[in-house]
Amino acid sequence: MPIQLLPDTLVDQIAAGEVVERPASAVKELVENALDAGATRVEVELEEGGARLIRIRDNGAGIARDELALALSRHATSKIASLEDLEAVATMGFRGEALPSIASVSQFTITSRKADAERAWCLECDGGRLGEPEPAQHPPGTTVEARELFYNVPARRRFLRAERTEFGHVEDLLRALALARMDVEFRLSHNGKLVRSWRPSRSEDELLRRLGETLGTGFPSQSLYLDESAAGFRLSGWVGLPTAARSQADQQYFYVNRRLVRDRTVAHALRQAYADVLYHGRHPAYVLFLELDPTRVDVNVHPAKSEVRFRDQRLVHDFLYRTLHRALAGTRAGAVESDPL
Ligand code: ADP
Ligand code: MG
Repeated sequence: MPIQLLPDTLVDQIAAGEVVERPASAVKELVENALDAGATRVEVELEEGGARLIRIRDNGAGIARDELALALSRHATSKIASLEDLEAVATMGFRGEALPSIASVSQFTITSRKADAERAWCLECDGGRLGEPEPAQHPPGTTVEARELFYNVPARRRFLRAERTEFGHVEDLLRALALARMDVEFRLSHNGKLVRSWRPSRSEDELLRRLGETLGTGFPSQSLYLDESAAGFRLSGWVGLPTAARSQADQQYFYVNRRLVRDRTVAHALRQAYADVLYHGRHPAYVLFLELDPTRVDVNVHPAKSEVRFRDQRLVHDFLYRTLHRALAGTRAGAVESDPL
């Protein structure tokens, strides 16, 4: 075969392979877009685990009629415009890939209205084939619908798991997002039923209530709150007491600039900090937020953006280890009575 340029839709479908692995990864991208748009309320509706329908509704800034088609174009973003912007990126998205990717592997509709616009506009895109914007009814904000995910990529569609499994992944994801953004209201529905909702929390009481609703009502009283800064890093959040350690590592949330990440440096520092106070085979629960200047961390490592690279890896490690070690000193399992309440 001679060398030839691939059609745009196929390029999008190839990119979709990296960004959209399953319904939960599409939901992640769409909810992050809502958060980047300043939404204070995000509703997620799924049918059949997301395989039949994913619908995300937000009350964010909205998209102008003339920018709708652009939003669905590859490498089109309102979030960065230069290398300097990329190196200091503070939004969840920046690659301009999610919408075109999702639209290329679903029956896709986006409806949006800017707060100052007279009306809403709706744009359909069927497996990458773009329509024309049509007038629509919608309050300020955006609704994105992706139906029949992977309907035109049978190899991917076959990889989808049971409805319950796929829905479980979305639930896990929303829990993580709800912890990262306690100021935002989230609602999650499945097959027409409201399954979970998180009310926004503004006071400390509301924060603890939401933490308990998300991780179990025992969590707030069985954890220590910390908030420490040094060397331009800030670590805040809740570390579970050793007495509340779990047999599974299923309540470990670590965020870098509010982005949930998996990172070996972080994992190692936490393991070490807990090493002295935990019994072998037990896993701590924690919800921790590391904040640092965005130029000190590269989030452009992988399309899904769940990996990061720290510029001063050693410093990050030592800061985390020292801060947590100090906080945990004296909490050795058995050294403290577990709180009977
Ligand atoms: P990225 O988030 O990397 O910029 P996306 O493909 O996810 O790329 O979105 C493309 C653009 O569409 C965004 O930069 C943003 O301007 C706009 N957009 C997407 N979703 C929303 C939304 N829910 N509300 C407002 N604008 C949105
Ligand atoms: Mg995005």
